[in-house]
Amino acid sequence: MTVKRQLSMVLDLNKCIGCQTCTTACKLMWTNRNGREFMYWNNVETQPGKGYPRDYQNMGGGFDEAGALRAGRQPSQEDYGIPWEYNYEEALMTGTDPWLRPNIKPTWGANWDEDQGEGDYPNSYYFYLPRLCNHCTNPGCLAACSRNAIYKRQEDGIVLIDQERCRGYRYCVNACPYKKVYFNEQISKSEKCIFCYPRIEKGLPTACAQQCVGRIRWIGYRDDTEGPIHMLVEKYKVALPLHPEWGTQPNVFYVPPLSPPRYGPDGEMLNESRIPLEYLENLFGDGVAAALDTIRTERQAKADGKGSELMDTLIGYNHAEMFKLS
Ligand code: SF4
Ligand code: SF4
Repeated sequence: MTVKRQLSMVLDLNKCIGCQTCTTACKLMWTNRNGREFMYWNNVETQPGKGYPRDYQNMGGGFDEAGALRAGRQPSQEDYGIPWEYNYEEALMTGTDPWLRPNIKPTWGANWDEDQGEGDYPNSYYFYLPRLCNHCTNPGCLAACSRNAIYKRQEDGIVLIDQERCRGYRYCVNACPYKKVYFNEQISKSEKCIFCYPRIEKGLPTACAQQCVGRIRWIGYRDDTEGPIHMLVEKYKVALPLHPEWGTQPNVFYVPPLSPPRYGPDGEMLNESRIPLEYLENLFGDGVAAALDTIRTERQAKADGKGSELMDTLIGYNHAEMFKLS
């Protein structure tokens, strides 16, 4: 879908520490009440892992190779995790319960499998994957909406749901392969990440990017050839979309994670990355090997004192310069 300009975000997975500050910033700003309690418009999941909602990668949606919508299904409430409360009053105020505890026995929730990953010591591995709506160029959610309630803004490509037009049919939830549209049962309407457009309109970055303590997020327009998005996505090709094969053409890109070498059976260091290349290619497509090679080469150049435009950008010396919003 053609728009005048497209905002985009790049996230460097080598710098994410899984602190969830971004998740908290988003939740406090947009989804901490009114039927949105289970929603995490921004979440940070451990990979390998089931993700959020649970097993979303196996729920279908998106487009097939011929460009037709693929069938998808909705996550259950259990797949999102049922929000729970704590007995603060009894544990902290009246002292009638000596233990602070949830009011239900939780069995699943966002980030439930944190830091589990895969592999056995000394070759175990995991990394953090922050996720948000990709504000896709070819949004499955928009294509599936029979009410024309979902639209893409001409001025920045942000994908929004017109709350007046939405009737809660939830075709969009089925069609989004990233499961980044949520159904609010209290108001019978679908809701999703709005890329903090009220902040963007004031020249401010999204809350998740502003608060990111790892400085892993850049925001800018795709057509700004002087900006960091162009440098990371187009020039050096080190930032890649998540599951490009799903056909929605995401505008959120990830710098894939490097990892330490694997150890052989006798404790010798092998010339292999601990995170299997095939696993990363399954997430980010064919460009992973070239992207990792470029990062290694540029990192060595920087270490050798030769200078590297790419590494200077990835380091993010100045947080404010990571956002180019005009
Ligand atoms: Fe729509 Fe999902 Fe793409 Fe967001 S990630 S624009 S909700 S298809
Ligand atoms: Fe990762 Fe930044 Fe979010 Fe922390 S705030 S989890 S470093 S993306």
